[in-house]
Amino acid sequence: MNSRAMSQPFKITSHIRLRDFNPDFHAGLDKEQTREDTTRLCLRIGELQQLLYANQTHSLILVFQGMDTSGKDGAGKRVLQFVTPAGVETDNFKVPSHEDLAHDFLWRIHKATPRYGNIGVFNRSHYEDVLVVRVLKLQPKEVWSARYEQINAFEKILTENNTILLKFFLHISKEEQAKRLKARIADPTKNWKLEMNDLKMRAYWRDYEAAYEDAINNCSPPDAPWHIVPADHKWYRDYVIAETMVKALEKLKMKWPKAKEDLSKIKIK
Ligand code: ADP
Repeated sequence: MNSRAMSQPFKITSHIRLRDFNPDFHAGLDKEQTREDTTRLCLRIGELQQLLYANQTHSLILVFQGMDTSGKDGAGKRVLQFVTPAGVETDNFKVPSHEDLAHDFLWRIHKATPRYGNIGVFNRSHYEDVLVVRVLKLQPKEVWSARYEQINAFEKILTENNTILLKFFLHISKEEQAKRLKARIADPTKNWKLEMNDLKMRAYWRDYEAAYEDAINNCSPPDAPWHIVPADHKWYRDYVIAETMVKALEKLKMKWPKAKEDLSKIKIK
């Protein structure tokens, strides 16, 4: 694997400004070669999930956040292509239901966390409660601003209890989003994806950037940092995510569990 690919520090360890990150960044890599590398990484993710499942000691959550069209669905589809569906638990966090709103904002999230052995995919997450809620003023500042600490406490519970949390901000430019929205209008197979709300949200681009910056800066402890993924090029986005997943899972140094029975005594007739 080409180490240049990760030369931009995607893993956030200090205070950042989004404008210092280039959504078009691709480390000068060759597209076709990188696609092949990504396929190899995805195969490895498939093997690592088998080990995760066999051991039943850890779980992994992929959090995908980003502006509309940034690839919150597409990235998961690509990087998990060789993982058995039974090993994946997905959730799309949309506008909260009455039931959700009758509880604290983390209730629906905690309920959706994957069992040990599985990979959870969160398309949107608890971060919506400091993003859309802040931008559209759905709650007063005292409410959403207290949530950063609450989120850190919640994520600490997860990571201290063997859940690996990989949080990806899929960083696209406003120009790239315009291209993708136009493609949704032009391509009949993509018409169904077009939401008028996505067009309206473009007017709030700066506000969303500010909200993302604060979420990333306030909620990047060493055990659950954000990764800012340059996402204007889908092939590079998927490569960065796949490589980050492989590194995180390999860090567990998982081995195949020993047989539960004394195999020498078993005779298959
Ligand atoms: P997507 O855009 O993810 O494909 P939708 O078009 O149904 O799916 O959008 C989901 C909507 O739900 C988004 O506008 C998102 O901001 C909103 N949403 C998610 N979580 C919350 C929340 N906690 N409070 C308010 N709105 C939320």
